[in-house]
Amino acid sequence: MSKKGREAPEPSVLDRPISRRTFLGVSAGTLAALGLGLRLPRLSLEPSLSPDGGLKPLPPVVFDREVYSLCEQCVWRCGLVAKVKDGKVYKLDGNPHHPHSNGMLCPRGQAGVATLYDPDRLLYPMIRAGERGSGKWQRVSWEQALDYVAERMLEIKEKYGPEAMIFSTTHNLLQPVFENLLKAYGSPNYGTQRSLCFNAMIVANLLTYGVQEPGRDYSAAQYIIYTGRNLLEAISNSESQALVAAIARGAKVVVLDPRFTKTAAKATEWLPIKPGTDLAFHLALIHEIIYNDLYDHAFVEAYTVGFDELKEAVRDYTPEWAATKTEIPASTIRRIAHEFALAAPHAFAHPNWRTSNFLNSFQTERAIAILNALVGNWGQPGGLQPAAGEEGAGLASLPHPPYPRVAALRLDGVPWKYPLVPLKLGVFQEIRDNILRGEPYQAKGWFIYRQNPVNALPERRKTLEAFSKLEFIVTIDIAMNDTAWFSDVVLPEASYLERYDPLTVVDGIVFIRQPAVEPLGESRSGLWIFKQLGERLGLGDYFPYEDEEDYLRQQLAPLEITLEELKERGFYRLPETAPAEAEGKPTLSWNTPSGKIELASEVLRNAGFPAVPTWEAPPEPFEGQFYLLTGKVAQHTQFATHNNRLLHERVPDNPLWIHPKAAAARGIADGDEVWVESAAGRVKTRAHVTERIRPDCVYMTPGFGHLSKGLRTAYGAGASDSDLHLTFTDPITGSQALSQTMVKVTKA
Ligand code: SF4
Repeated sequence: MSKKGREAPEPSVLDRPISRRTFLGVSAGTLAALGLGLRLPRLSLEPSLSPDGGLKPLPPVVFDREVYSLCEQCVWRCGLVAKVKDGKVYKLDGNPHHPHSNGMLCPRGQAGVATLYDPDRLLYPMIRAGERGSGKWQRVSWEQALDYVAERMLEIKEKYGPEAMIFSTTHNLLQPVFENLLKAYGSPNYGTQRSLCFNAMIVANLLTYGVQEPGRDYSAAQYIIYTGRNLLEAISNSESQALVAAIARGAKVVVLDPRFTKTAAKATEWLPIKPGTDLAFHLALIHEIIYNDLYDHAFVEAYTVGFDELKEAVRDYTPEWAATKTEIPASTIRRIAHEFALAAPHAFAHPNWRTSNFLNSFQTERAIAILNALVGNWGQPGGLQPAAGEEGAGLASLPHPPYPRVAALRLDGVPWKYPLVPLKLGVFQEIRDNILRGEPYQAKGWFIYRQNPVNALPERRKTLEAFSKLEFIVTIDIAMNDTAWFSDVVLPEASYLERYDPLTVVDGIVFIRQPAVEPLGESRSGLWIFKQLGERLGLGDYFPYEDEEDYLRQQLAPLEITLEELKERGFYRLPETAPAEAEGKPTLSWNTPSGKIELASEVLRNAGFPAVPTWEAPPEPFEGQFYLLTGKVAQHTQFATHNNRLLHERVPDNPLWIHPKAAAARGIADGDEVWVESAAGRVKTRAHVTERIRPDCVYMTPGFGHLSKGLRTAYGAGASDSDLHLTFTDPITGSQALSQTMVKVTKA
């Protein structure tokens, strides 16, 4: 897509130049207090000076409409209220009725207007008209694009079988419809990107508690331990609010992180732990709690299995032993064990998402889950809670014919290579590597929806090489991300402020994503795209809805509310269905083979892995190398927000954090250009010399260094961590161990 040939998008509220001076500060509450707030333009009203030099009061802005919907700037899905005037969205606020936002949006959520009116939005379907990645595209009609995609998918199915087509997407409200398409088509190959994020956490909790991720009660928590979780910059909105409130209430917060993050800055205690040794830290906490008789005897005896085996296994994991691994003094580890046990059950060790992100992270997650069980905090005020997350209970599912039987092996190795990885999680990086190997068969096509494997997967060079083995790649997105740039067809989806998605239920309340404004250009909703495609693939019966509103009406059929009422009100509370939990009495039984919390897991033992957590030493950098750390900033989400002009202005690139001693040893001053080099590749960026990181680590914010010239704001900004990361896959959970990549740094 050449800049020259691109049609100008509709005039936007952001057409005028943006600078901080023209912003009106609107960041709200606790996040603003953390300095994470973002300023957004406010119509055309410019503050001006009154004769006494003060700001003249501005007249109130009257919007035409307020529309209840859901944010999609990250996967947390906060409720929002879009303020609309003259057919345009001018402002986004948090929906006070939604438990994920509680009336507040984070910086990324507030900047959603700039995603909607991004001048680089995809506005019409396009088919590649040159080499992949050449940027040469031909604009086509939806009819032509959909016919072409269906024709190629049918051709692949006929010649190679449905398994030759890979389908991948990330966490989103349309996932059930996407899964419906891949199952109806008959492919086993489903790629989520969970293995790049929290497979280890989920598998550990499934094996220990039988739940994917236990909830946390911050309201009464007196002691919280985070392991590599930078919640205040990763911003899970409501949970970040809960943490800030807990800190204000006086809860003690311990953060283990080799980097002084904003979460560490707000904590009571920051422990700059040596990377990959958080397992040793938690094993020592378990040792100290067991061997000093600090555990909850009644709870452990009644509700757990495997205590004796655990006790024996951690016999030698003393705080003194852990100090030699973690570089945290034994006295500190011992004190924290005692403080945690004393605060229990109003205390929890957070399950985190990635911990330190090494191959031993599954064992770390198991140790954390077990630590919580030992102090009996399950279902207690301030402890772990039985369930977290969303569910769809209460809504009707749309009917569909039976799916065809699938006999082919999955390209991601689940379960034939990774028997303990749930099918819904998969091992994303293994799909890429099996495309390259042509094993257990050669994939031929890839259907990618709201996902960006070119940026997300480690070793970007390999991902592009895998693309070259495929005959056909189609991407659906709202912008020309790097994956779309290397595709054969791109289909423009309407943004989250312009479309319906299937309804969702959070904490027993139905919420709606609905259009606040008309879609720009010819972009259309995913619900429409999948139905059109399904019909062309001869799978129309699997998409039994007339249009988007009909889909939602069918979901609402069992409930006493119409779509019109829901659109107006924005939420609907389901009738009570779970009396025990409603009364605050969690059931003390677990969905594990024993029905109890499994301190020792027979499932692990039978699969040939240790039944209780044991020490596994992580790799260390060679002389002159560093651990490469990556992690979140509050202004960006993975790889998706870098072309948002408001967020780009706040965080335009990703300098390399390096400790002053390490920098001085290499003659590097703050702001100098540096080469960062791993066994996978090398990138150039500038140095940010800071004491906020251990001398043996360097850090880059991920998601920069875009290749697509269709992203005119993000293109050329920063360097790509995907060019540096090597691929390391945990054989138990399929997790990619991002922090095991070591790098050299030299002055450029
Ligand atoms: S946490 Fe922020 S970006 Fe994510 S859904 Fe909520 S407001 Fe949007």
